[in-house]
Amino acid sequence: MKFIADIMLGKLAGYLRMAVYDVIYINDIDDNRFMKIARNENRTELTRDSLMLARREFKNGTLKFLYIKDDKPINQLRQVGSDLAVTLKPNLTRCLKCNSLLLKVKKEDVRGKVPQFVYETSQTFLFCKNCDKYYWRGTHYNKIENIFQRVKKE
Ligand SMILES: [Zn+2]
Repeated sequence: MKFIADIMLGKLAGYLRMAVYDVIYINDIDDNRFMKIARNENRTELTRDSLMLARREFKNGTLKFLYIKDDKPINQLRQVGSDLAVTLKPNLTRCLKCNSLLLKVKKEDVRGKVPQFVYETSQTFLFCKNCDKYYWRGTHYNKIENIFQRVKKE
């Protein structure tokens, strides 16, 4: 399942990327372009904007959507999980910032590019070409797991 998230749902977009979903999030986009992307790429719209949902395309079922009820990102993630029956299992495969798929890189290739401590203690490194950013299991991954644990518990 692929998504497009509206301007109010930046955090949720990041969380869903952690759960391996393909989520488009564009900061500065008007309703028409937003809906066009959703239609062309068969994406489910995630939105807090009830005004947009009053449009014909939603009423007649041309576009799939989920109206997000809560303000808190963690509750939003929980709602997506239960309302759309999608699996929420964290894994670092997508860049949390830009949605690109991360590339595996060899440990020797990141020497000097990540903090020395990280280089010494981590084995797996991933790279986003688009953002020129490295990811590794450790700090990033623990934070992610934490969030998904909270979704299950609360
Ligand atoms: Zn990126």
